[in-house]
Amino acid sequence: MKLYDVTAPIFEGMPVYKNKPEKQPKIQTVTNAHVTESRIDMDLHTGTHVDSPLHMINDGETMETIAIEDLVGRIKLFDLTHVEDRITKKDVETLSIEKGDFILFKTKNSLEDAFNFEFIFVSEDAAHYLAEIGVKGIGIDGLGIERSQPGHPTHRTLFSNKVIIMEGLRLKEVPEGEYFMVAAPLKIQGTDAAPARVLLFEGINA
Ligand SMILES: [Zn+2]
Repeated sequence: MKLYDVTAPIFEGMPVYKNKPEKQPKIQTVTNAHVTESRIDMDLHTGTHVDSPLHMINDGETMETIAIEDLVGRIKLFDLTHVEDRITKKDVETLSIEKGDFILFKTKNSLEDAFNFEFIFVSEDAAHYLAEIGVKGIGIDGLGIERSQPGHPTHRTLFSNKVIIMEGLRLKEVPEGEYFMVAAPLKIQGTDAAPARVLLFEGINA
């Protein structure tokens, strides 16, 4: 069995969305005698994380409405590192994607460590196509599943069709194929996102 940890490390100075200083996590460590305790102040969309509908829909559902059972199981990872700018319907309609699939897209984003303002994202037409098929979830290796689309139609299309969105994966080392995924967001209640540890296993057929 081979294990891939596809989680971004969290540290002060890590890549954050649009390099905004206020999105940097702040870790404060206090030591009293032999006792050390740290606090972290961070955006819930830091690094590898799962979004909930509330992120882009007023009064949308929050993190605890996403069943952990839907974040654990078989996934299909597609290598789209050849794609430029954005993943379109044309890029995905030739892939073997079926209703109920949880799919991950590996793009050029995984090959870069710094935040790229031109990161690869899922276009509105691809989001419509995938929602129509009825995929369970989509994971991508950018810090956002979309950019430069006014009104955020990719997020909103996926959320309104109950498609789970996972962002900030690190997929450089993982070849295209099928894996068993364990994605475990922190059990924070009532929020629009939660950071997650995401592991992919090769050779488990549960
Ligand atoms: Zn997010």
